[in-house]
Amino acid sequence: MTTFSFAQDTPWKCAACDQPLIPRKMSITYLKSEFHVELMACPQCNMTLVEEDLAVGKMFEVEQLLEDK
Ligand SMILES: [Zn+2]
Repeated sequence: MTTFSFAQDTPWKCAACDQPLIPRKMSITYLKSEFHVELMACPQCNMTLVEEDLAVGKMFEVEQLLEDK
């Protein structure tokens, strides 16, 4: 199973909790397939820096790039 990582060092903190964001693995179901993604998220309220929809969109772009080659 492929894991797409969107985790990156960031100075961002959760606005609600004032906690530094940490990489968090999530699974997303897309086109009946399950993908694992790593997103920066708040450890307290699970707010994610990259929205799930955006992650799915980027994943789809990466897949298309791979198919072109
Ligand atoms: Zn939070």
